[in-house]
Amino acid sequence: MTKASIEIDFSENIEINHPKCVHGPTLLFHSSTSKFFACSACRDRQECDIFIPYDERNEKGSKKMIQQNQREYERFKKHIQTLQKKRKIFNKKLNIYYCYTCSILFSEKKQSNHIDHQCTESLNRQQLRQPCQYVLQPLEKKRTNAQFFFSQTFIDYLINEIISKNSWDSVICIGCPTIFENLHRFSSTKSIQTYLLDYDYRLCSFYSTKQMLIYNMFNGHIFSKKKYFQEKFLKTIKNCLIVIDPPFGGFHRALSYSIEKLFQSSDINRDIILFNPYFLEKWIIDAFPNLKMLDYKVEYSSISTLNLCRGRKGSPVRMFTDISRSKFPPLDDVNYKYCFECDLYTLLTNQHCFQCQSCTSKDGLPYKHCSLCKRCVKAERVHCNNCNVCHLANQCMTNTSKRKNESADDQTKKIKV
Ligand SMILES: [Zn+2]
Ligand SMILES: [Zn+2]
Ligand SMILES: [Zn+2]
Ligand SMILES: [Zn+2]
Ligand SMILES: [Zn+2]
Ligand SMILES: [Zn+2]
Repeated sequence: MTKASIEIDFSENIEINHPKCVHGPTLLFHSSTSKFFACSACRDRQECDIFIPYDERNEKGSKKMIQQNQREYERFKKHIQTLQKKRKIFNKKLNIYYCYTCSILFSEKKQSNHIDHQCTESLNRQQLRQPCQYVLQPLEKKRTNAQFFFSQTFIDYLINEIISKNSWDSVICIGCPTIFENLHRFSSTKSIQTYLLDYDYRLCSFYSTKQMLIYNMFNGHIFSKKKYFQEKFLKTIKNCLIVIDPPFGGFHRALSYSIEKLFQSSDINRDIILFNPYFLEKWIIDAFPNLKMLDYKVEYSSISTLNLCRGRKGSPVRMFTDISRSKFPPLDDVNYKYCFECDLYTLLTNQHCFQCQSCTSKDGLPYKHCSLCKRCVKAERVHCNNCNVCHLANQCMTNTSKRKNESADDQTKKIKV
């Protein structure tokens, strides 16, 4: 099923009317032929298998699946509550450790509870304040939870060149704990309020509900106590920057729906910086029509999975924003240039096209204008008179389908003979 053929139905109150899985309320999807509830966060049924055809939602088999998933949801919520209850403010004089087996911090007095568990050495203040940098490993077992922690160079750029030079009174980080923990350090010197919304339950041991919530950005569901966030935090801020780092496979329309829901009863002025690969631009603009893509290549520190789409192009991740792009100085002096026609910084290798009136390369590799397609295309493509679009040589879809049909015909002929 392609993204294009599938729509999400937001007409009902998802918190009340939709079955839940471990990721919170499911979403109601529909295509021309079917309507069903499925996980908001996982496209891969192997990761979260809830699937309820809408018309069969009251049948025995569906009810069993709904109950089973509801139990998993309750279990996850309980786990978060337990972690939050166990969270302690430690005396500065004590030695503090983190147990990976129990996902909690503990003091030297409790060491006997964690014998044979996988634990850290004693952690200093800075390590405790920056758990992503010093304690936790990015989750990468599952695609839904796949986390990539931003490189320190990029975080410094974002904080020093963008956040501190503008007048937001608050920053809400959604799915980007590394940015949050660095801001946290910086916000003590500048009067800027910060808050983290993230699905990573491990962070509950490091932050209170005054600092973060366990949150699924694809259905807007909050798993932990939200009183402080809704009644205090959102009431005191007026001009907010929202920084979002969604997993690549997510539904952008669902994300946009969640962001609206988060702010529905407030009149906070919001700006957005969203991170995603350049090749998802079409889907991002579809869900967030005000966002525009910046050419800058955003680097991550843990890129094992991301390596798949790297190669000679470097990082495929870009910033999408509704902030004036002139407010973003180039990431460095070596790889970017100023295009006077576009009035923007762009990749050095990106050529301005006077027909398209923009610097057209998406991935930083050379593009050329095709007068027949009336747009710029990747330089290695050639215009094909067969199908009337530009594509790589010998990759014409019309030819392949023709060839297949021809050989199928040959086969039938042979059989007939
Ligand atoms: Zn799920
Ligand atoms: Zn333990
Ligand atoms: Zn240009
Ligand atoms: Zn062009
Ligand atoms: Zn062409
Ligand atoms: Zn062709």
